[in-house]
Amino acid sequence: MKRFWDKVDIKGKDECWEWKAGKSRSYGMFLNKETGKVETAHRFSYRLTYGKIEKGKLICHKCDNRGCVNPNHLYQGDKGTNAADCKGRTGRVSRWYKGELWLIRHLHSKEIAQGAIAKMFKVSSTIISRIVKDPNYSYKGMNRYQLRNLNVF
Ligand SMILES: [Zn+2]
Repeated sequence: MKRFWDKVDIKGKDECWEWKAGKSRSYGMFLNKETGKVETAHRFSYRLTYGKIEKGKLICHKCDNRGCVNPNHLYQGDKGTNAADCKGRTGRVSRWYKGELWLIRHLHSKEIAQGAIAKMFKVSSTIISRIVKDPNYSYKGMNRYQLRNLNVF
């Protein structure tokens, strides 16, 4: 799979191997010509190195660097796995960042409908309404995966 490794900045065994080609949400993306499908480069790297990925498993980064495809930094995880990039996808809650609360209140002050803001942040409008009403609000209502999916920052 030369085509794959050509796009990787291969370094030492313990270093991060950065994906040099296209990325989406900081994950490297690779067009698998055999299947004609685009997949994440770290998953592909894992499969090339270790073989199959069990059904329903996620490939997580030990290094927390989404653009890294070093097989030594990758492992199979599932919903309870304790790495930021895997944890996010399980829907586990984490705190809102100050910036998001600020942005929500800011959008609200610009008379953007709460429903629209809710959609943007992929939460219910009840939560948005609480945030704009309560200046001390710090509800743990959104997971990191959702946060990273937002294109508003
Ligand atoms: Zn790494």
